[in-house]
Formats: sequence, structure tokens, C-alpha cells
Amino acid sequence: MSHTVDCDVLVVGAGPVGVTLAALLAGEGVSVLAAEQAAEIYPLPRAAHIDHEIVRVFQAIGAAEPVLAAAKAAGRYDFLTAAGETLLSFDSTQARSPSGWPASNMIHQPSVEAALRAALARSAPGALRSGWALLGLDAAADGVVARFATPEGERTVRARYLVGCDGARSTVRDLSGIALEDLKFDEPWLVIDTIVHDPARLPDRNLQICDPRRPTTCVLMGAGRHRWEFMMLPGETPEQVSEPAFIAELLKPWDVEGAVTLERAAVYRFHALVAQTWRRGRVLLAGDAAHQTPPFAGQGLCAGVRDAANLAWKLGAVLRGAAAESLLDTYQTEREPHVRAFIDLALMMGRTVCITDPDAAAARDAAMLAQRASGQAQGPGLGGPALAGGCLLEGTPGAGEFFPQPWGPGGERLDETAGPGAWLIGRGVDPAGGPPGVAVLDLDQPHLQPFAADLSRWLERHGAAAVLVRPDRYVFGTGSPADLAAAWTAALGR
Ligand SMILES: Cc1cc2nc3c(=O)[nH]c(=O)nc-3n(C[C@H](O)[C@H](O)[C@H](O)COP(=O)(O)OP(=O)(O)OC[C@H]3O[C@@H](n4cnc5c(N)ncnc54)[C@H](O)[C@@H]3O)c2cc1C
Repeated sequence: MSHTVDCDVLVVGAGPVGVTLAALLAGEGVSVLAAEQAAEIYPLPRAAHIDHEIVRVFQAIGAAEPVLAAAKAAGRYDFLTAAGETLLSFDSTQARSPSGWPASNMIHQPSVEAALRAALARSAPGALRSGWALLGLDAAADGVVARFATPEGERTVRARYLVGCDGARSTVRDLSGIALEDLKFDEPWLVIDTIVHDPARLPDRNLQICDPRRPTTCVLMGAGRHRWEFMMLPGETPEQVSEPAFIAELLKPWDVEGAVTLERAAVYRFHALVAQTWRRGRVLLAGDAAHQTPPFAGQGLCAGVRDAANLAWKLGAVLRGAAAESLLDTYQTEREPHVRAFIDLALMMGRTVCITDPDAAAARDAAMLAQRASGQAQGPGLGGPALAGGCLLEGTPGAGEFFPQPWGPGGERLDETAGPGAWLIGRGVDPAGGPPGVAVLDLDQPHLQPFAADLSRWLERHGAAAVLVRPDRYVFGTGSPADLAAAWTAALGR
């Protein structure tokens, strides 16, 4: 048996980001191998929240329903003083998010990863290689050769591109000599996950208790689970705070004895880090390998899944010869400011919560309560900014925005009806007249009728005759069909 495997894209690390990327690449018709050092899915819950945009990416790989089957929609996220007054409130209970899925979803990460792996097994059977640990890599101008320790002995993979999705302590990042920028946040927190027996005795919303004596987070999680996070105080050790008696004392004010059973307790250091470059030739980074955020905005995994969605269609287009390799440079250009906006939001939340000096906490409370009483805006929203500066027809209305997914009256969804790939949408557009690889959607076509009113309204709002939507469902630009077709071809470098 040959000890060398060939593929188009080698994904190192099969956490949620690597598996999503591999499944999206398989959908692009790319041959992919996902090499994972662990034998099984990491069993402990980490991420608790994903937003609607992530569910839409999972929809693209056929995993939305299985993921949501074990999730809980969440409406409110409140920051409270020690006395219970509201400092900040984020409400995502709006009837319908832009993608039609619940805006905020509380999850159990291992269950999500199982659903993602099932989707990958359907689209690319045999692509996942468990127990494969990366030992070394040689990157050349035309490809990458990587060596792995596997249960069958050492194996070599030759790939045209390698994407490091190997998490916070990324071997790919280290072997590529890529440094991390430290955004200076480093707080140790105790994370307690519980199995719920009596949901009626638990809060029905996510909470940050801004109590200087012990900043505390209370998180809904997926069905049947609940989490608390407690900031560690100076002098406390991980061993001490993980003691059952210590944990029982921490949970006492919540009065949940008998309502929950402890599943696990772990100490995490919450960091904010961004890799200085996300692409070195044929090697790219995605997910926690490229950036890490404190969890206060619930966006670490979400950011990694957005990386996967951004990168997959670009790699697919380059590998098919439909785009120049320079398209890959737009990956970091587009994704890094977006990630930094969410890290800034998490840092704002973290710096609000992690105040342990009583005077500073009292000053914070007074300032934020006064701001709230005056009716001023209560901080930024939870949505991300528009993309800028990459593969976009900049300056046209809507360019870089997330494009909505209307749902029809019978539950039909635009993405399935219109299919994968880029779309050029307008009324009276010639279905045979689009640029190569772009589906032209004429709003007068019968199969688009369930969505025609919503899509027409979007075009009217943007004063546009037509819109070109990228395969990752971000708007390339708006304008006349002919101008869009020419600009898209130019943007792909063809
Ligand atoms: C307490 C906590 C709460 C969080 N809450 C949220 C939240 O609410 N919402 C959210 O979006 N995110 C949240 N996150 C962040 C989220 O869990 C991570 O961002 C996410 O797991 C990153 O996914 P990933 O696939 O990039 O990396 P990982 O999940 O770390 O996966 C990397 C994979 O690479 C493998 N690997 C590593 N080295 C090698 C190697 N040399 N060879 C082969 N394989 C290798 C690992 O075994 C692992 O399976 C939270 C994190 C924590 C700790």
C-alpha cells in the first residue's frame, strides 16, 4: 500500500472549522483530506452559542437541521449589576433573522461536531483520517508535502493547498513561522457545565453578573445543559476552584441543588490573539489557528466557520482554474477586520464584566445605568460589519453585506431553490446570459415566486437593477447585469 496520499486540499485539524471547510470543499468538487490527531471528537463542551449565519453555512452542507435538533434558541443576553439592575441588554428575539434561522442558538459543541462529521461522511466518504498527527510540512510554490504519524505508521500527503484548522496551539502556524498578535486580554475563568433535571429552576436568558466580588456568566447551552463561568480571583489556583465543595459554594446563590448535576469543571485562560498572516503561499490558517477571542460574545467558533465559508469557494474557484491565485489574498483582507470587530465586542464585554475593584465597579455601574436611563444606545449590536476591500464591487450599494435568505410560505428556502455557487439576481435578466459559473435568477421565473417579493424589496432598497451574490452569500455588488458580469470576471482575475 502506498504511504503517500494526493489531494487538492489538505485540512489539518478536524474540529468544527476543519470539518465544515472540508465538507464545503467537497461540495466545490475539490478532493479533500481532513487529518485529525485525536481518535474521537473532543468530548467536552466549549462553544455554547452560534448565530443564524453559521446555521446557514451548516445548511449548505446539509447539517442545519441535525445541529438545531440539539440546540435551543436564545433571545436575551443581559449584563446585570450585583444588585440585579440591567447595564446592557442584547435582544435577538426578532421574528426572523436575515437567513431565516433563529438569530441566536445555544448548542453543545460535541453534538454539533458529530452532525458536521456526519455531513462530511456523506459528501466525502473517507476524507476524515482520525489519529493522524502532523509531524512536519514542506511548502513549495506549487504545493505542500506533509508528514503524519498515524496508527498505521508514518504517512505523507501531497496537496496543492494546506489549511491549518488545528486550533489555538496550531502546529501548522508554528511550522510556518507565523506569529500571533496579542491583544492583551488574559483572564483565568472556571467553566462549569451541568446536566439539567429541572429547567424551570434555571434562568431563561444568558446573563453576565458584573459583581466585583466574583464576575459570573450564566449560559443556557444546548438542550438539557446549563453552564456557569466564574472569574478566578487573585491567589486562587485551578485545583482549588475545581474542588466539588468550592463549586457547590459558587452555585449556592443560584439555588440549583437537585436541579442540575455537574458534568465537568475546567479552567480556561480567555485570550485575544490574531495571527499576523493567514496565508503563506500554499499554506493558510482558519479558525482558532488564525484568531482567538474571549467567549463573552459567543463568536469564536462562529468566526472560524465564517473563515471556512469565505475560503472554500475561493479555493474551489482557484483549483478549477476559474480564478487567479490572487483571489486567495482577499481571504484575510475580508475576514480579519470582521474577526477583529467581534474580538473588540468581546473585549468590551469582558472589560465590562471583569472589574473586581469595588470603586471601579461602582463607577462603571453609575455610568452605564445613567446612559441606559438617558435612552442612549446600549452598546453595539451583535451583527458583524460588512466586508470591505476584497473581492467586492466596492462603492455599489450593498457590496460586502450579508445577503438574506428569504423563506417561502411553504418553508421553501432560497439557498436550496437557487442552488450553490454565485447568483446574479434581477428582473428580466437573461437566464443564459451570466458570466461563467454564475446562476442567473430572473425574478419572473416560476420557481422563484416564493421569494420574488422579498428579493424585489431588497433590490428596491438598494436602488439596484440586479445583485451579484457570492457563493458565501455575501454581496459582491449591485448594478446592471452587464456591469456586474464584467466586474465579477475581473475580480476573479480572469
Ligand atoms: C469556555 C469556552 C466557551 C466558548 N464559547 C463559544 C461560543 O459560545 N461561541 C463560539 O462561537 N465559540 C465559543 N468558543 C470557542 C470555540 O470553542 C472555538 O473557537 C472552536 O472550537 C474553534 O474551532 P477550531 O476547529 O478552529 O479549533 P478546535 O476546535 O480547537 O479544533 C482543532 C482540531 O485540530 C486538531 N489538531 C491539533 N493539532 C493537530 C495536529 N498537529 N495534527 C492533526 N490535528 C491536530 C485538534 O485535535 C482539534 O480536533 C468557546 C471556547 C471556550 C473554551
